[in-house]
Amino acid sequence: MLSNSIAELDRRHLVHPLASWRAHEQAGARFLASAKGATVIDAEGHCLLDGFAGLWCVNAGYGQDHLIEAATRQLRELPYATGYFGLGSESAARLAGRLADHAPGDLNHVYFGLGGSDAVDSTIRFVRHYWQSRGAPERDQFISVAQGYHGSSAVGSGLTALPVFHTNFGVPLDWQHKIPSHYPYRNPVGEDAQAIIAASVADLRGKIAEIGAERVAAFYLEPIQGSGGVLVPPPGWVAAMHAVCKEMDILFVADEVITAFGRTGPMFACADEGIVPDMMTTAKGLTSGYVPMSAAFLSDHVYETIADGAGLAMVGHGQTYSAHPVSAAVALAALDLYEGGLLENGAAMGARLMAGLQGLADHPLVGEVRGRGMLAAVELVTDKAKKTPLPAAAAPGTRIFDRAWQNGLIIRAFTQGVLGYAPPLCCTTDEIDRIVDLTRLTLDQTLADPDVRAAM
Ligand code: PMP
Repeated sequence: MLSNSIAELDRRHLVHPLASWRAHEQAGARFLASAKGATVIDAEGHCLLDGFAGLWCVNAGYGQDHLIEAATRQLRELPYATGYFGLGSESAARLAGRLADHAPGDLNHVYFGLGGSDAVDSTIRFVRHYWQSRGAPERDQFISVAQGYHGSSAVGSGLTALPVFHTNFGVPLDWQHKIPSHYPYRNPVGEDAQAIIAASVADLRGKIAEIGAERVAAFYLEPIQGSGGVLVPPPGWVAAMHAVCKEMDILFVADEVITAFGRTGPMFACADEGIVPDMMTTAKGLTSGYVPMSAAFLSDHVYETIADGAGLAMVGHGQTYSAHPVSAAVALAALDLYEGGLLENGAAMGARLMAGLQGLADHPLVGEVRGRGMLAAVELVTDKAKKTPLPAAAAPGTRIFDRAWQNGLIIRAFTQGVLGYAPPLCCTTDEIDRIVDLTRLTLDQTLADPDVRAAM
């Protein structure tokens, strides 16, 4: 049991991310006390099954001794080393090499940061350096996808397409453009895969023509849109967008902050489509969330172009904690687990999760079940034929989360009435089945909500 004063300290002094500050002052926080595997224990001693791996990040599960020992060893030996002044650390160098071995194609160069947002920001800088180096500084326009999320930094938030990240801030900036999402369940062209791909290709070509191809620097996408509601494009969609960028000599940046490190099955989701992006951002599963770290990958061509352009001048980008040796040591340990069978377990459990959630398709509230690997969503509607979203009056984002929590399950409940799943890859079959059972219970309770009933 947590003393009231801790709750009070949090309420008074701790500013929570993506939160209503006033609502938080009233409601306070739910404190997590400990965790093991896929189970989290809160401050009151309640056990919860974490169906969201923290924030889609604890891919290896909690309490993995191998990661904890790696961190402890590195903390004892060398808790910090800067990469400035030509210095370095063994763990960071080993990690860069090992990631290059795993990465698709020639993504052989890695810049380490602290989280997904700064990885995206690093790539924005690298894109600009690249075009300067190629003698085309007028290539300074960026395109991303509606419903996409690319972090909440000052500039990267403009590539993000979720309005809450734009409020009061003047983003998107005038060089940040969007094309519509593929969102198969609600695409105006219908759910046919080829029609969706053709429409997105036309949208991208149209946007490039509108801006002027000679001005477009880069196109950003997530292989599966996470924060937008786990929107899974049809197979071939990512490859089709990549092909347009190749043809038009536009840099293609894959934001794999959620999808990398086994989340969709393979080490990187780009492998699902057989493409090699020019740059790729990762974070989360890199260290399984144990310590902060991100990795922005650059292809040989991008790296060489920037290096040639700068010559012996400095590329002015850096952070105190870039390539942090403790984070690198944990990431190396996480890779040991991914390579040592965790990806296979994740793939098997992902298939079981999808099959289990598909089994809920006959529930009166379930409009669609979608996902790939250990990344899934259930979209709720009050009318299946019309695909009517749950009413705002039913506050899906909070009430469903609260119900699931009371039932002993942590999931993401998006405000539009979409349930998001990203369990640790170490889940057992029993845990996956329990996620599905507790979801059914939560759906039944939601069906009994008077505000939901009133809309049916
Ligand atoms: N890109 C994507 C695709 C993400 O999902 C996220 C975080 N959910 C980010 C960037 C930003 O990462 P962070 O929260 O670590 O800054």
